[in-house]
Amino acid sequence: MSRILTDDLPFALTVPVAIVGGGAAGLCAALAAKEAGVDAVVFERDALPQGSTALSAGLIPAAGTAAQRAAGIADSAASFARDIQAKAHGAADPEVLATVTQGAGPAIDWLTERHGLAFTVIADFSYPGHSARRMHGLASRSGAELVDRLRAAAEAAGIDIVGAAHVTALVAAPDGRVRGLVVARPDGSEERIGCDALVLACNGYGGNKTLVAEHIPALKDALYFGHPGNQGDAVIWGQELGAALRHMSGHQGHGSVAHPHGILVSWAVIMEGGCQVNALGERFWNEASGYSEAALAVLGQPGGIAWDLFDARIAGIARQFEDFRRAEAAGAVLQVESMDELATRISIPRQVIRATLESIADLKRRRATDGFGRDWSGLPDLAPPYLAVKVTGALFHTQGGLAVDGAARVLRSDGRPLPNLFAAGGAAVGVSGPDAAGYLSGNGLLTAVVLGRIAGADAARLVSAEP
Ligand SMILES: Cc1cc2nc3c(=O)[nH]c(=O)nc-3n(C[C@H](O)[C@H](O)[C@H](O)COP(=O)(O)OP(=O)(O)OC[C@H]3O[C@@H](n4cnc5c(N)ncnc54)[C@H](O)[C@@H]3O)c2cc1C
Repeated sequence: MSRILTDDLPFALTVPVAIVGGGAAGLCAALAAKEAGVDAVVFERDALPQGSTALSAGLIPAAGTAAQRAAGIADSAASFARDIQAKAHGAADPEVLATVTQGAGPAIDWLTERHGLAFTVIADFSYPGHSARRMHGLASRSGAELVDRLRAAAEAAGIDIVGAAHVTALVAAPDGRVRGLVVARPDGSEERIGCDALVLACNGYGGNKTLVAEHIPALKDALYFGHPGNQGDAVIWGQELGAALRHMSGHQGHGSVAHPHGILVSWAVIMEGGCQVNALGERFWNEASGYSEAALAVLGQPGGIAWDLFDARIAGIARQFEDFRRAEAAGAVLQVESMDELATRISIPRQVIRATLESIADLKRRRATDGFGRDWSGLPDLAPPYLAVKVTGALFHTQGGLAVDGAARVLRSDGRPLPNLFAAGGAAVGVSGPDAAGYLSGNGLLTAVVLGRIAGADAARLVSAEP
């Protein structure tokens, strides 16, 4: 059944800018449209906006922010763009890449100064692939705080957020111009709302098993750790309207989800000098490559699990994350006084654990690179007490999506924009290329916040310019 209607039935009302989805992308789009003097209405299928944004760590990479300057960190949009492109092996669209890397610093400063979201930089460890410390988070380092603060800012700005409003179809003219949308209510009723421009901010297809099996078959049976309401509506509608889809196999995985607790364990435990071993006690890859590709690396091990091994100093850094504190409270983090006790608790022969940890200590002392390609120089030795968490791999979100330009306009296969359709966040193609390894930490919220802001402003400009 087509989900693009072409009828000319009346609309109950018409809004200038309609936004589907109330995560970071949708709320930033709404704030930007409102600031441009145009009313935007957010339609969100949940009663209260949460999305994958609420499940995330809420960390947004940005270069040249006031928060970085306050922390004495020198950075530039150009080096940020180089880092993203290096991780994506050159596959990120240059126009979108320039837009998001140049727009990220101003977007963080905008949210801080104009909307009171007090971001600080994670200054005590480096995320893989970032040449500067540029991950910005709110106090709790949680996405729940981020989405709550964005919602509060939107409400303070007088923006209508319509909850329990599941957009089930779009209404469009033959030339691809979106005329409105159909909203299903929990009581089974439907409303038809007209719009002058539409922003798709309803993320990707991570919650849609069929689409995951089609585009990311290696993770078709993996745990999906994102928001279940993200069913791929943006790509399904866009495709029917003639939009091009890009890098549909691109995604963010994660290889450090506490098992069976299902709680994210920050990659800080690895980057600060910890390691992963499989159920046989052996290391199996270069953990410093990135947490996204870690999903497949861990799922490929016996039983699809691994152990994150680290120490009390590193736990002190990880504890700034609400997720890590939850993992500790849930009993997912073991603490032991010696290597032998560690071996007993995680059921691995003592000599194997000793050999693994002693070889890491030796690599650190020699400031050497191991056979997997991990450079251990500059990392302090692990010291007792040791900590361990049993982890597995998961799909966090999809990075493929609608082709967009630097103004967040959705593009047709021939490169021409659709008349009044915009996309941001997980609805649009990201800057990570076609695989998990192309994902640089923070690429998800980067395009949600920055492209969301741009989509809202450009949608407002479009409707203001029209007679
Ligand atoms: C555990 C976890 C940790 C993460 N940590 C980070 C991090 O620290 N930094 C980072 O950059 N990225 C992180 N990510 C990725 C990040 O969460 C996403 O990239 C980002 O939240 C996408 O924002 P969004 O606004 O596009 O989507 P969402 O926040 O998912 O919002 C989309 C909204 O659209 C709604 N919706 C969907 N379909 C419809 C419909 N038909 N009608 C109405 N509403 C609809 C959904 O209910 C949802 O609320 C993480 C992801 C996970 C799962």
